[in-house]
Amino acid sequence: MSPSDTIRNATPSCADPSDPGALGLDEARRRIAAAATPVTGGVRVALRSALGRVLDAEVVSPQDVPNHTNSAVDGYALAGSELPPSGTREFRVAGTAMAGAPFTDPCASGECVRIMTGAPMPAGTDTVVMQEHVDTAGDGRMRIDDRHRPGQNVRQAGEDIAAHSVVLPAGRRLTPADLGVIASLGLGEVTVRRPVRVAFFSTGDELRAVGDPLGPGDVYDSNRYTLYGMLARLGVEILDLGVVRDSPEALARAFTRAAAMADVVITSGGVSVGEADHIAAILGELGRVEFRKLAMKPGRPFTFGHLGDTLFFGLPGNPVAVMVTFYLLVQPTLGQLAGAGWQEPLTLEATSTDRLRKRPGRFECTRGILDHTMAGGPSVAATGSQGSGLLTSMSRADCLILLPESRATVEPGDTVTVAPFAALI
Ligand code: AMP
Ligand code: MG
Repeated sequence: MSPSDTIRNATPSCADPSDPGALGLDEARRRIAAAATPVTGGVRVALRSALGRVLDAEVVSPQDVPNHTNSAVDGYALAGSELPPSGTREFRVAGTAMAGAPFTDPCASGECVRIMTGAPMPAGTDTVVMQEHVDTAGDGRMRIDDRHRPGQNVRQAGEDIAAHSVVLPAGRRLTPADLGVIASLGLGEVTVRRPVRVAFFSTGDELRAVGDPLGPGDVYDSNRYTLYGMLARLGVEILDLGVVRDSPEALARAFTRAAAMADVVITSGGVSVGEADHIAAILGELGRVEFRKLAMKPGRPFTFGHLGDTLFFGLPGNPVAVMVTFYLLVQPTLGQLAGAGWQEPLTLEATSTDRLRKRPGRFECTRGILDHTMAGGPSVAATGSQGSGLLTSMSRADCLILLPESRATVEPGDTVTVAPFAALI
């Protein structure tokens, strides 16, 4: 079963029977994926600036890599047809070939060329005998035995990449290895998609900026920091619009401003059913609400919709719910918008060391700590209290334990599916 199946099967599209308005996680993801059209427009960027960006055009090799047939070891180049079938044979050392200083004369019968790793194979040679397998006579001659085979220790031109072949397809998110591959072609620039623009703001009258004093009932705005951190790792263009008060007028202004500058708008807070929760109503006025409740814990209040061509994610206010819903719903969307496609989090199976209370009928995520050291495969422990306001439980965790809708309470020793945070969180 692929990771995506694991999550997909975990959440058949039915909603929570005890909460009929709530959408199953899989159905929610399906609807979001259907609405996310990749951005268009390519820009030429210098190779180093292309790390983590998505290729807009395939990279075609202008040449063979390696460009010339060369030695894979330090040793002696000779003609494979001259290897002794039995016993030993002596060769005259006609010269030296270095990487960057080829031996340009042809190598005649009975001769060999001292050759260093990476040096082009001299004309008349097709085989290299490792230095360690040679007896040097000291008089410009060397002797080998019958352990060798023609063609050994030689890297053929085009062995890694053939000229005119497609090396990297459009839609590829470039890794450090890819930068090296492109550099090996001699290319200093590539065409990448423009980055996805993401505007985000926090909502709540109680929110204070770090550094400011807290009044009674106030809390510091931490969601803008966790969101910033996750967005920064995804290579999107980040537009931080600060904190907006729980006033319908202020929110409407912020929505309009954000939608005008971004492909995606993300807010946190104000999506539940409290008196200060205006997000869905304003989205309905200025755009369109697709859904506003998930059969999921944490993350039940979650609004998704459109502001014109801009996708809108109204994340819950609770700090853990923000990170979990971003990880499972927003991150894959941003990949699809970027042109790299929708990618599910990678998952693996682990043995739970804890009892995890779980109600069937909704998808639940528990923060976990993986232990890879145990014999018999990985095990996972819960981070302790799972309140969705307890951000330290997220900070201690290195994975999410994904508990499908149909699952009931997990007993110690049961197998569970976990999604390691990898590089995002
Ligand atoms: P809300 O959904 O707006 O009712 O918020 C739910 C809970 O999350 C409340 O306890 C809020 O104070 C808290 N909360 C909302 N936004 C933030 C934020 N940006 N940083 C930290 N806590 C927040
Ligand atoms: Mg609020």
